[in-house]
Amino acid sequence: MRSLEFEALLDISARVGADPLLVQGAGGNTSIKEVGTLWIKASGLWLAHARKRDVMVPVALDPLLEALERNDPATEKAQHFVISEMNPSGLRPSIETTVHALMPQKVVIHVHCVETIATAVQTNGAAITAERLAGIPHVFVPYARPGLPLAKAIAERLQENTSVLILGNHGLAVAAETVADAAMLLTDVSRRLTAQRRQAPATDLAALSRLAVDSAYCLPDDVRLHAVATDLESCRIAAGGSLYPDHVIFLGKGSVIAAPGETAVSIETARTEPSESLPPLLLFPGKGVLVEKTISAGALAMARCLADVTARIPATARLRYLSDAENAELLGWDAEKYRQQLNRAGQALQ
Ligand SMILES: [Zn+2]
Repeated sequence: MRSLEFEALLDISARVGADPLLVQGAGGNTSIKEVGTLWIKASGLWLAHARKRDVMVPVALDPLLEALERNDPATEKAQHFVISEMNPSGLRPSIETTVHALMPQKVVIHVHCVETIATAVQTNGAAITAERLAGIPHVFVPYARPGLPLAKAIAERLQENTSVLILGNHGLAVAAETVADAAMLLTDVSRRLTAQRRQAPATDLAALSRLAVDSAYCLPDDVRLHAVATDLESCRIAAGGSLYPDHVIFLGKGSVIAAPGETAVSIETARTEPSESLPPLLLFPGKGVLVEKTISAGALAMARCLADVTARIPATARLRYLSDAENAELLGWDAEKYRQQLNRAGQALQ
């Protein structure tokens, strides 16, 4: 039988997962440590569905921590540490299991909070965070690829009383002894990091309809996606490259910005490698965006995230984009391929 705290964790997971300003698609994860077992959200599943289906996987905590001490590559996927007899559905643990294991508190909530990301992509993100989170024991962890590199970067910086991790170019983790305290901390941190949001000019729907003619693209149902292109500052920020891992995983490296005179069809035909898959999202500066007609739910959620994050980055901010090597490392990573595969499998899992 599940404990009351476990039930409370499922409630907060579903709530947090349904808020696109905190979690997008299969991103973000929650965990609870109970008698030597770390229950963590499964890779590729949505926190939003925590009350609709089984999303938690049991992992043996001590063996995982010992393996982390040894820098054992098996910790990359954490699958090796799943307690199979308690995991009849055969789910795989989140690729971010090590973040949860390293924090000693009972409950950990990791989110891709857009307010945090908008801060954590700035070159002076650590200084901004230190000022805004004064009084909360927190650590700023510079970007490292999720998995073993991120675990090592966290382990090097974690203090005994650390309850908040700001992950550079990535997101936020909060930890507490109870679900209620973790939820309160999450609210407090995201409120403190809340930045002013630029209001985007109107979308040029007529122009976008013309630009989509005869192409594999259409207008998105969610009109909020357009802000990244109608707001020229946001568009410039997006044009600079990829800012956080899930963008790369679900939308590809960087963003595709249409040049003057280009249409969706001309972008499609200009691709050098015809075998290459189409970019899920096209930005038309000053007009709005088009999405691939077959876009996955995960990519749509990340397109919304791009509009939400860029709108919160000040026009004068200096940004740290993911390097070519960091982009390539994310796209070539086996554990992420599994998550992409689940994303393509789509609604069957939801
Ligand atoms: Zn994450």
